[in-house]
Amino acid sequence: MTFPSPEGATPAMAQWFALKAEHPDALLFFRMGDFYELFFNDAEAAAAALDISLTARGTHGGEPIAMCGVPVHAAQAYLARLIRRGFRVAVAEQTEQPRKGRPASKGPLRRAVVRLITPGTLTEDELLEAGRQNLLAAIIYPGGRDGGAPGLAWIDISTGLFETTTVPTGSLHDQLGRLDPAEILCADNVELGDFAPRRTPVVPPASADAARARMAEAFGVASLDAFGTFSDTEALAAATAIDYIRRSQAGQLPRLSHPRPSDSQNVLGLDPATRASLDLLRTRDGTTEHTLFTAVSRTVTAAGSRMLADWIAAPLTAPARIARRQAGWTWLLDKPGIRDDVRTALRAAPDMARALGRLSLGRGQPRDAVAIRLALEVARAIRRILGAQPELPPIMAGVMGHLDRAHELEALLGRALSENPPARMDDGGTIASGFDSELDAQRELRDGSRRVIAGLQQEYAESLGIPNLKIRHHAQLGYVIEVPAVAASRLRGRDDLIMRQGTASASRFSTERLIALDQQIAQAAENAALRERHLFTQVVCQILDETALPEIASALACIDILQSCALLAGGGTWCCPTVVDDTSFTIRAGRHPVVEAALPRNARFTPNDCDLEPDHRIMLLTGPNMAGKSTFLRQTALAVILAQAGLPVAAASMRIGVVDRLFSRVGAADDLARGRSTFMVEMTETAAILNQAGPRSLVVVDEIGRGTSTLDGLAIAWAVLETLHSTLRCRAIFATHFHELAELSDSMPRLTPHTMSVREWKGQVIFQHEVVPGSARRSWGVHVARLAGVPEPVVRRAGRLLSMLEKERGRQAPPLPLFEQHAPAPEAEPPAPAVPPAAQALLEELDPDALSPRTALEMLYKLKKLLKP
Ligand code: ATP
Repeated sequence: MTFPSPEGATPAMAQWFALKAEHPDALLFFRMGDFYELFFNDAEAAAAALDISLTARGTHGGEPIAMCGVPVHAAQAYLARLIRRGFRVAVAEQTEQPRKGRPASKGPLRRAVVRLITPGTLTEDELLEAGRQNLLAAIIYPGGRDGGAPGLAWIDISTGLFETTTVPTGSLHDQLGRLDPAEILCADNVELGDFAPRRTPVVPPASADAARARMAEAFGVASLDAFGTFSDTEALAAATAIDYIRRSQAGQLPRLSHPRPSDSQNVLGLDPATRASLDLLRTRDGTTEHTLFTAVSRTVTAAGSRMLADWIAAPLTAPARIARRQAGWTWLLDKPGIRDDVRTALRAAPDMARALGRLSLGRGQPRDAVAIRLALEVARAIRRILGAQPELPPIMAGVMGHLDRAHELEALLGRALSENPPARMDDGGTIASGFDSELDAQRELRDGSRRVIAGLQQEYAESLGIPNLKIRHHAQLGYVIEVPAVAASRLRGRDDLIMRQGTASASRFSTERLIALDQQIAQAAENAALRERHLFTQVVCQILDETALPEIASALACIDILQSCALLAGGGTWCCPTVVDDTSFTIRAGRHPVVEAALPRNARFTPNDCDLEPDHRIMLLTGPNMAGKSTFLRQTALAVILAQAGLPVAAASMRIGVVDRLFSRVGAADDLARGRSTFMVEMTETAAILNQAGPRSLVVVDEIGRGTSTLDGLAIAWAVLETLHSTLRCRAIFATHFHELAELSDSMPRLTPHTMSVREWKGQVIFQHEVVPGSARRSWGVHVARLAGVPEPVVRRAGRLLSMLEKERGRQAPPLPLFEQHAPAPEAEPPAPAVPPAAQALLEELDPDALSPRTALEMLYKLKKLLKP
């Protein structure tokens, strides 16, 4: 954005220019009285984004200054909208109070930017999504030309979470997909792919030593090593994030957990394309309704939702850790009474982590302190429920250990905070009576004087002979006697009454006594407010000094997930899968939890088995359109995610060897914004699989090769299938409309053809959604076109053309394999047979460029036939 030169600006506008220069990329909210005002281009952008009116205020350089404003009391709602639209906002407050008698010649009141609000530095509930983390990430690559593994740090300032990792080569986008940061600090040249719009360019500290020193200073330790081992780039990324937060909070640092090196190596590898194809936490259009998270979450707290989202985003690869989570919820599954008690207790738990975040930034309100008190009460209730149990599974015993802390703080908050504190500190009444004798005395003085005044009303009414006389408090006049205008003439001229105001309906007087009492009340109220604020600050300090609170918050979130799993598993056919260290893979009666939940009431989801055990680890799935192939593919991938996250799986039973990387490509999409066609996207994603999958991976792919001509597509699909089978040797489900690929099972011993069963009835096709051995002969595309509402004449014509084409194909000589056999696989598989002379001769004659797709397909069948003994 360009702004006019500050030359010739009025003093107030000069101040605006100076502050704007500090934050040129942010909209400047410039506090003026009860409004935040925006000027020039800022005003135009904000008025358009917020749909508020654009006005003008004075002139600058002969031009009117565009202006718009939002009232301070409603600013949160406007801020939320601006942040969601991708703006950053710098809030400039008056840092000097207007005083009576302050000469105007002293210029405008001092102002300073007290906060920079960016997507990654939010703390207010109104600006945050309760059930999701809000992460600020920093990425720093090592210097020099060699590149190397970048360091990644991520912080949620609303909860204090702070972790780092060194990203293994090539998996930066996987990590970003997992964390889904709201804002990413990195240099301009870091390739961020779909995350590019979230970039904020930064300059990291000059050296790793400087970064380590800064981190140690921020956390008050002699050396960063106190918290674990951090690579140089991790330390640089962490310090970059800390510096940025400090700047955004006007030098203040919120209380953060100390940085923790995260073991990103031991989580299931999921690239962004896989996440996008599976709708784990959000669908492609950004909603949460039809997602895996929504289908499985029965959590009752915001912190529980956040932790569950994290478990789903980063499934584990260590069977022991998975089993530990499973043991927690299966224990509760057997004890529905305890599960219900825990659930009921948790319902009262507020969002302690976020309340702590606000308190640590000095932005806390009474309800945040109350949130801590309530959370500690819930912790105690859960301790009572679980403590009565003779033996707890290890994860629960761990939770109990964390919950059994902070007793002194709990007692203090119980005494210090009143039962129903006000929404804002300024309203008074946060600190309970009986907690502090000085506060009680001031309140007594204030309230006692108020009682005296109440008594005076009666006294004055009688002594002045005006029964309907009232004593009222008036904002400007203080306490006054108010009498109807008709009675006022009787009081005029009295020495003991001072006339203050007369209106058509009433007259107001004060007396020496009232003035004295008014002053006494005002003084006592001010003293009480000061004392209360002081006490509240002390209470907040005690809260922030209690190091156990973040752990208590996590323990409550964890127990929420466990009860959620137990409730889910107890309410239908969900199993606790066996996850082991080999390459087995069997799911019995698996279901797609999201599709199942979305089916109409009278429809039933057909469960399916999935068997990818080592001797038939590749499933080739053919079948008509709409028969349920994509659903089957996705449900298998989702089952792996749930199983390795330690959660219940929608199946009768499941046993798998740990999957190290999961690739799901279901439902192709184009990426025209980045200049990639549907086919280009498909091939880029295929390349990613072929370059990264290994024997422990699971690949589920749909329709590889559909985006190009039949022959190209068939050739690509064939070659990819061979590679998955014989070179990568991973477990895979390969769904395709190239039915002829099923014949490859002759040369690929670990490939089993499967199809979606359909029944024909009175010329109609009935989808049974059942996966059965065998291969499909037809795609039923014309039938599905009719279902979709393609005009009847077109459908009929397509039907006639189809039978003509099929007949023609039937008249041709039996098809033969077209492609040369792939070299034998490195593992002990039967050697490829020599090419028979007839096939050889045919191949030599062929000019591939001169073939139409149909003749080429026929050649393929011909060659295939020639290859058969
Ligand atoms: P296409 O080849 O056209 O992409 P498809 O074979 O991949 O089709 P799906 O998209 O998986 O078909 O499924 C189509 C619809 O069938 C789903 O939206 C769902 O309503 C229903 N469906 C799929 N699987 C099942 C099942 N196992 N039980 C019941 N209904 C199912």
